[in-house]
Amino acid sequence: MHFSFLTLFPALIESYFQDSILKRAISNGLISTECVNIRDYALDKYKKVDEPPISGGAGQVIKADVLERALQSVANAHVIVLSPCGKPFKHNDALRLSHKSHISFVCGRYEGIDERVIEKYAHEIFSVGDFVLTGGELPALMLCDSIARHIQGVLGNADSLKEESFAHYLLEAPAFAKISPKNMQFSKAPSVYSKGNHNIICDLKKRLAICKTKYFRPDLYRAYRAFVEPEQTKKKG
Ligand code: SAM
Repeated sequence: MHFSFLTLFPALIESYFQDSILKRAISNGLISTECVNIRDYALDKYKKVDEPPISGGAGQVIKADVLERALQSVANAHVIVLSPCGKPFKHNDALRLSHKSHISFVCGRYEGIDERVIEKYAHEIFSVGDFVLTGGELPALMLCDSIARHIQGVLGNADSLKEESFAHYLLEAPAFAKISPKNMQFSKAPSVYSKGNHNIICDLKKRLAICKTKYFRPDLYRAYRAFVEPEQTKKKG
């Protein structure tokens, strides 16, 4: 899978891939990335990429013609624009998009991007939450990261994906790591976790996941009740 980032600040993107899991995914040839500097497509001698909004008002808007030339340089990609106006990005989007071969992320800055280029080129528009950031680089990296971890081989252990949060409308059950008995400042982890009986551990984890979801994300729990529970009852019956 190839990821292109159209940005005015390539260094913000590049540094993210210099460590950890995605660095290894690049070394193993599972993903590749490139940054397209939008400024390289400005034609005037000052390399101007933005203009004040024609309606008046605060800030600057990224010019349609400059961004269009940048977009045309990465042909045949699935184009995703990052914007607070987009639909909220979800687990299922990450899963679905992990089957694409080339995704281009368009990172806005300033007051945003001329709407006409969004209408003409965006296949999808995503938001990462109901708040405003200074630029689309962090949102683009968030999407790229969560898409990439669904590509086979990117995570060391593919089982990590099976029971993690959102996979079945539930949050993941609490996790505990071994600690020395000297660390008495912590409460004890559930004893079942360390007794090695896989079925009993799974059952407890499922119940804890349900409790956690009910408490932290009642909206997700309602979806779980509506979509997953009836399927499970059907299978049992
Ligand atoms: N004036 C815009 C508005 O009110 O919707 C906000 C522009 S924001 C300062 C600059 C850029 O940051 C946007 O074009 C977008 O690419 C990115 N951005 C900011 N918040 C975002 C969010 N919640 N989700 C996705 N992208 C976001």
